[in-house]
Amino acid sequence: MKAGKPLRVLFTTSECAPWAKVGGLGEISAALPPALRALGLDVRVLLPCYPSVRACARGARSIATLDAEFGLPAARLLRATLPGEVPALLLDCPALYMRDGGPYVDANGADYADNALRFGLLSRVAARLASAGSPLRWRADVLHCNDWPTGLAPLYLSGLPDPAGSVFSIHNLAFQGLFPLSEAGSLGIPAGALHSDGVEFWGRLSFMKAALRYADRLCAVSPSYAREILDAEHGCGLEGVLRERSADLVGILNGIDSALWDPASDVHLARCYDARSLAGKRVNKRALQQEMGLQQNDDVLLCGMVTRLTDQKGVDLVLDALPALLERPLQLALLGTGDAALERAVADAAAAAPGRVAARIGFDEGLAHRIEAGADVFLMPSRFEPCGLNQMYSQRYGTPPIVRATGGLRDSVTDFSEAAVRGGEATGFVFDEASADALRGAIERALAVYGRPAVWRTLCRNGMARAFGWDRPALAYRTLYASVRARR
Ligand code: ADP
Repeated sequence: MKAGKPLRVLFTTSECAPWAKVGGLGEISAALPPALRALGLDVRVLLPCYPSVRACARGARSIATLDAEFGLPAARLLRATLPGEVPALLLDCPALYMRDGGPYVDANGADYADNALRFGLLSRVAARLASAGSPLRWRADVLHCNDWPTGLAPLYLSGLPDPAGSVFSIHNLAFQGLFPLSEAGSLGIPAGALHSDGVEFWGRLSFMKAALRYADRLCAVSPSYAREILDAEHGCGLEGVLRERSADLVGILNGIDSALWDPASDVHLARCYDARSLAGKRVNKRALQQEMGLQQNDDVLLCGMVTRLTDQKGVDLVLDALPALLERPLQLALLGTGDAALERAVADAAAAAPGRVAARIGFDEGLAHRIEAGADVFLMPSRFEPCGLNQMYSQRYGTPPIVRATGGLRDSVTDFSEAAVRGGEATGFVFDEASADALRGAIERALAVYGRPAVWRTLCRNGMARAFGWDRPALAYRTLYASVRARR
């Protein structure tokens, strides 16, 4: 590696917005690579060629045929360009990726039965491209993997000639990629790794554990989450492995795409606004009330929520607190999709309080923006939250978040106090215990401040002034990559 050449990074991911997005990982994969390229790094994104990716990646052309792996037909690499002029490498293996449904689940919401193979191949190809066996002239200095679908890559890389350094980002430890240990053979995992000091986790094959063991450096998506996963409560059984690797683990808070999430230019809104024209927010509140069938009322505290409906996100706490909250001048607008039982419970809550509680079950990008803009406060009572994006969006939109003190929520929201709001620090309301009562207490605090318009406006403006862009995280990733390269 000659001095002065830009650092080459292969950013490997199972989702990348706008071509394929399930959650936060898709957004981060879209935003971090261009921010790194703006710093002069040569970053390329590797992702599977799902139907949605193929449809978006116009002009994609084949640049290499890959050696056949795992008894599959030979796959191809396509070259395309992501928005933001980021070069993309698409792993084209139609037998694995060209399916109805999402990146991980079929049209009925069930995991694909061959996910080990689907993401084993992604990991394998990533490792090949980052080693001497690469079919491309371009060779990565650093392989950056993300979450369990890329978890086997550091393991494969460790067995290949002249490997790049590897970084593994933990976006959510709760999803681990667990499969029968019997799949290890067909994935070419060496027998020497099939023990609890390797990839075995309680009798199963763990993609996540493979990464935690074999990556050179580990990164969690917020400093608090990086600490929390060392304990049993948030370590999901992997806290022991993580503690052994704690010297190699850092926390870097994600940024947000501040062009896409900007109330001053958001195409989804009824009226754009900024910190000087907060009155425009009232127009969005009325429009949201109308769109969601809520009573037109300027004076109620309109609580917004956009979320996957899973236990993690604490939607049940909101539902439990709702009867008492509805005694107060308050409305709830919720958009979400996920567990069938929670979807039903949310729909029932809306049916029981028409005009006060409104729910949309589904995925709706535009409505997510309109809730951020139209709500007065944004609820995130998560049991755990590796980073979370919506609390950052809501601050930018002048919609103070009400969050539980966990992970990235703790790192990105400053709790209200008289002194903190005057000093420009307070941006929302933070509570500790994962209970309906604690959530209700925080909402009561918000209601009290909401009744003091001048203080409320200061709180909103404090959040709008926060810089959550990707430039700062990108610098931290650059430092992390440099530390890996130095080890080689
Ligand atoms: P997670 O990745 O755990 O789902 P994040 O807050 O990090 O949570 O990111 C989720 C992203 O997906 C946010 O941008 C959020 O607005 C978006 N999102 C989640 N559910 C929906 C939905 N039903 N409709 C539209 N956007 C959604």
